[in-house]
Amino acid sequence: MSKFEENLKTAETYLERFRKEGVLNRINGESVAAISGETFESISPIDLKHLADVAKGGAADIDRAAKAAKAAFPEWKVMSGKDRKKLLHNIADAIVARAEEIAFVESIDTGQAIRFMSKAALRGAENFRFFADLAPGARDGKTLHAPNQINFTSRRPVGPVGIITPWNTPFMLSTWKIAPALAAGCTIVHKPAEFSPLTASLLVEIAEEAGLPKGVWNVVNGFGEDAGKALTEHPDIKAIGFVGEGKTGSMIMAQGAPTLKRVHFELGGKNPVIVFADSDLERAADAAIFMIYSLNGERCTGSSRLLVEASIYDEFTAKIAKRAAKIKVGHPLDPDTIIGPLIHPIHEKKVLSYFDLAKEEGATIATGGTKVDGPGGGCYVSPTLFTNANNAMRISQEEIFGPVLTAIPFADEAEALALANDTEYGLAAYLWTADLTRSLRMTDQLEAGMIWVNSENTRHLPAPFGGVKNSGIGRDGGDWSFDFYMDTVNTAIATTAHKIPKLDG
Ligand code: NAD
Repeated sequence: MSKFEENLKTAETYLERFRKEGVLNRINGESVAAISGETFESISPIDLKHLADVAKGGAADIDRAAKAAKAAFPEWKVMSGKDRKKLLHNIADAIVARAEEIAFVESIDTGQAIRFMSKAALRGAENFRFFADLAPGARDGKTLHAPNQINFTSRRPVGPVGIITPWNTPFMLSTWKIAPALAAGCTIVHKPAEFSPLTASLLVEIAEEAGLPKGVWNVVNGFGEDAGKALTEHPDIKAIGFVGEGKTGSMIMAQGAPTLKRVHFELGGKNPVIVFADSDLERAADAAIFMIYSLNGERCTGSSRLLVEASIYDEFTAKIAKRAAKIKVGHPLDPDTIIGPLIHPIHEKKVLSYFDLAKEEGATIATGGTKVDGPGGGCYVSPTLFTNANNAMRISQEEIFGPVLTAIPFADEAEALALANDTEYGLAAYLWTADLTRSLRMTDQLEAGMIWVNSENTRHLPAPFGGVKNSGIGRDGGDWSFDFYMDTVNTAIATTAHKIPKLDG
């Protein structure tokens, strides 16, 4: 039996429970159907066939979950840092123990290649370990001396929080949002994306089996416009950590306004990768290819705009086109597959529409630009490169969120910078040059929350993660996560019998 056939068999063993039992909500430590009894269907992007019936939560389910999170908060927030650290490490251990199951379920549910999902499952465990180690210091603050007083600050968890996640690498992303919230002492109501609900139910189950008390973490499935909206409007939910599209973020801001919801947004990007002629062109090509064609191009930090110095534009884009054409599109459980099917026919339709648009706008499709008849007949598209493009085209401005790269030439440093910044987004930017002084000049002016020089996106978990402009509000990572999930409180103690004004003479 080939490894691929073996993978298909293994996946079936993990999927059986979802086919039989469906996906339920998890509220106060119990798996429950939606109060309405309604379900929605989750399909696999591989063959568009039924995967599971999923509880279709709404406002009543969110209310139940928010009340459970509120009831669990007083006890959870006072757990010692030492115990919290131990528990979060236990969750990480439990994720590692079930990493294969998580990776297989995620691959089938999202269409992401198994080679990337096995790493994403382990990265989820790493996220828990990272925040576990920070938990004992989460409440710490500063001491600030004044002539007549000592001020000291401390941090307190804000209360129950809502976490709303998208469908691209949902498992890893959920851990990235949930682990710091738990480390801070918040309780949680999680609303996973409706296109990819499976691994969220595994994650909460794993956490509770590892010892997480009931009600600390609740999961309500459902659609954005009802379950998601109700979560953002619920008065017991003090903050919303959201990852998704900008237009959804703006709705969440409006929905949360009446209850003065604190928000943290990780949104979309149209991230430039700028390649100067003096750079190591082989490495630059490797990185550009990796950052747009891995994870099906469904990646917020994907390098979707390739800005190339004019003197090497033809040669460099020809090289990318040739290499992209060789990337294997196939079944996500095939160990050789790089690009699996896109998440859903609705998203596939959107990505395909940009192939037509590129032609209408006068760009050249240097490679790809077609639907692929892949195994199962699902949402497969070819790795694509548009050349002869300019930055004003919609293919250069809009987030396509697929394996689709638009290449634009630039004449000099000033133009490279202007093109890179000429976008509503500002999540990530990648710069390739051998000139150190230029890299310092450019990084000082690039409008992006995260900039990598001579590198693909390699994450260092203590470093801040987030975007500027329409790519986000707030930062995750290290202590920045605690700034969002916690309130800072200042206490001032008089150290002298200073003069207090007497108002009655
Ligand atoms: P989306 O905004 O459509 O949905 C995200 C989540 O929001 C889903 O759970 C959805 O149900 C929910 N939602 C929808 N409407 C809502 C409403 N009115 N109120 C509350 N919740 C609502 O995004 P998507 O299509 O699932 O994900 C792709 C997007 O996510 C891309 O733009 C991508 O760049 C972005 N993303 C950003 C990052 C980052 O870190 N910056 C990471 C991953 C994905």
